[in-house]
Amino acid sequence: MDLAGRRVTVMGLGRHGGGVGAVRFLAAQGARVTVTDRLSADLLSESLSELDDCPGITWHLGGHAERAFRDAELIVVNPAVRPDDPWLVAAAAAGSELTTEIELFLARAPARVAAVTGSNGKSSTAAMLASILEAAGRRVWLGGNIGRSLLGALDRMRPDDAVVLELSSFQLQRLRPTGRGIDLAVITNCVPNHLDWHGTFAAYCAAKQQLLRLQPADSFAVLNVADPVVATWRHEVRGQLQPACPATKIPSLAIAGQHQRENASLAAAAAEAWGADGAAIETGLQRFAGLPHRLERIGEIGGREFYNDSLATTPESTRAALQAFDRPIWLLAGGYDKGADFDELVRAIAARASGVAFYGAVGDRLQAALERLPTPCGSTRVPTLREALGWCWSQSRPGDVILLSPACASYDQFRDYADRAEQFRRAAAQLATKPCLL
Ligand code: ADP
Repeated sequence: MDLAGRRVTVMGLGRHGGGVGAVRFLAAQGARVTVTDRLSADLLSESLSELDDCPGITWHLGGHAERAFRDAELIVVNPAVRPDDPWLVAAAAAGSELTTEIELFLARAPARVAAVTGSNGKSSTAAMLASILEAAGRRVWLGGNIGRSLLGALDRMRPDDAVVLELSSFQLQRLRPTGRGIDLAVITNCVPNHLDWHGTFAAYCAAKQQLLRLQPADSFAVLNVADPVVATWRHEVRGQLQPACPATKIPSLAIAGQHQRENASLAAAAAEAWGADGAAIETGLQRFAGLPHRLERIGEIGGREFYNDSLATTPESTRAALQAFDRPIWLLAGGYDKGADFDELVRAIAARASGVAFYGAVGDRLQAALERLPTPCGSTRVPTLREALGWCWSQSRPGDVILLSPACASYDQFRDYADRAEQFRRAAAQLATKPCLL
């Protein structure tokens, strides 16, 4: 679609980069852009400041307005908007076309596209794949759910570049067949997540499988067949199924955890499908220093090592973190309730942690579940992250690990995962100077 002069509404500017990327791109194409978001200008201030130099946009913030939808020829829908949203249903019925930032990109991408999805490990695996492809001498564009829109890079992309996208289930469930499919798909795992949004596990799986359904015949797919759910998706593969790389080909990594070695073997297999050799795999993986907020070592205070795993928003990611250390662990966990099943997590805490401080909305549920198990693991239930840190600090000894790995989303008490991490860092820094204040 030629966008010049078209009336386009961006529904949901958001705070993760996709909305901003879409608005900038549409404005540069000469579209008449309207932005509507239920969040206020205050809450969207960071995204808005990135659009300061983008004139001529009509804004409806702090709630959606009918005007924003009435005349829209095209609506670019934020992935977080539910498919049954009444505004969208009405707009589609009135003849507006619906699309997404990712679809706008895929329809125009001049280079081959790899996409990574899964319940856990998407960003890490996508970043490892990008690192290996770079080590193999390719020019690589990493974007999508990892927090960067690639629409603004389209005019600099060349056909022999490599695009690596991280895609969430929300982004995938809105994806329809476009001019080009996904040339290389990677699926890390699939366990129940975001069921408050998708409704059922089957609907969530269907969203993830959409990635395979959009592949052309000459494509590659890397599935983590160690995952019992993903293993059953082999029959959905349209192109060539690539096995994960054997562990022997994976060098030692700078980042902790067996789960990261598993992600690395998927990234390596994907890179091999695109021609990377053993040397590039080794260099690319060794160079990879990890991403912020994923089991990130933030420093040592009073002899304890502090780790920020604020992006551990599922029980599986916190279980993976608990496996990553062979020293006493003092865990801070809790947050917003997405309807996850915590049984296995609580068993893992009982088996691996020296102590755990539960906080936030699901704190009571987690504490009650742990108390039902016979375990030497100490525990407490406190209202806030700060108090949780105070407890872990007072119980721990030099040589121990203090780990923020919440297993839950942050929305009950924080703006987002980054805000949660920042508050953890600040409180930890305060420990170094004035531990009695915590
Ligand atoms: P995603 O993009 O799917 O959220 P990330 O790579 O950002 O995944 O990691 C998010 C959290 O999940 C971090 O706590 C990380 O340590 C953990 N994690 C990464 N890979 C896996 C995996 N394969 N299994 C379980 N947890 C994982």
